[in-house]
Amino acid sequence: MSESPVRVGVLAGDGIGPEIVPAAVAVAEAAARGPGVSLQWVELPFGRAAIESHGDPVPDDTLRALDDLDLWILGPHDSASYPPPHAARTPGAVIRSRYGLFANLRPARAFPGVRATAPDIDVLIVRENTEGLYADRNMFAGSGEFMPTPDVALAVGMVTRAASERIARVAFEAARQRSSRVTIVHKANVLRLTTGLFRDVCRVVAQDFPDVDVDEQHVDAMAAHLVRRPADFDVVVTENLFGDILSDLAGELAGSLGIAASVNCSDTKVMAQATHGAAPDIAGRGVANPAAIILSTAMALRQHGDAVSRPGLVAAAEAIEAAVAAAFARSIATADLGGTASTARFTDEVIAELG
Ligand code: ATP
Repeated sequence: MSESPVRVGVLAGDGIGPEIVPAAVAVAEAAARGPGVSLQWVELPFGRAAIESHGDPVPDDTLRALDDLDLWILGPHDSASYPPPHAARTPGAVIRSRYGLFANLRPARAFPGVRATAPDIDVLIVRENTEGLYADRNMFAGSGEFMPTPDVALAVGMVTRAASERIARVAFEAARQRSSRVTIVHKANVLRLTTGLFRDVCRVVAQDFPDVDVDEQHVDAMAAHLVRRPADFDVVVTENLFGDILSDLAGELAGSLGIAASVNCSDTKVMAQATHGAAPDIAGRGVANPAAIILSTAMALRQHGDAVSRPGLVAAAEAIEAAVAAAFARSIATADLGGTASTARFTDEVIAELG
């Protein structure tokens, strides 16, 4: 009996989004040709194009459609450049909070054939995605950033026991699938109450995972250690802002932000979203690296396939990752990696690897 198609949302977004998201769709479509897996693509308005067509970067129609999907690809958005009042809301955060996508999983690993500052890096940054200093995430109403006078700006940071425990469990479970090491990253010597609570909760969760080695780093020291001895780290669990910064660093150490994959997930939904942003400086030139969003899509397919016990999806994810690695191994690379391949050429080569 053939299984029903998996419906995957496609939200192209801004900047390089309309160039790289279709690349991920084409690659996933090529990988899903095998038996027992078929993908049905649901294109949804999002970002600047949606402001023009629907008067809203995240239209209600898009949210209603996502309600029925378990899985989607979110392109980057350049919301800082939107006209008022749209610049005030971060579109990705609207979606993350509506679906409770509390865990942001950001692997960084160097590929053979890719020029990398840290060829031996292979870390998974597990970033808490709902709290911290992010103004658009941490308040019931209003913004966590405000100005009591024109010359004073304040930001409210939030850390809760529940969210810290939830993300710590994700990190320790992930470590069991990898090299069984977790580094808790905080700044509890200065942000004693907030990141101190985060650290303490992670320590408690660690007791349930005696088979996993645990250490701790202050975030500033962690940045230095990641550069100096990247191979010593496996899973890094940290709060929102620290995770955002460290994952850009780790992505560049692995070669480029252009290969830095990521998913945002809850227990039931998964959203592929590359670590990088809309890269307006190179948009429209056909030179963006689509690898990050292709690999993010593979992560999402694997995660959904595992969750609903569909091995065909997991196999498709593995095939995509192998095809990207094979293209890199043949030195097919976009400009950010020192190569000359266009977005289209890299995509075609990955599809060719899929046979
Ligand atoms: P955001 O805050 O939305 O993550 P950002 O300000 O961190 O965005 P990015 O848009 O990620 O910035 O771009 C940072 C740099 O990395 C830019 O020089 C951009 O051209 C480059 N870059 C990002 N993504 C890619 C990609 N896929 N391919 C090539 N270069 C990229």
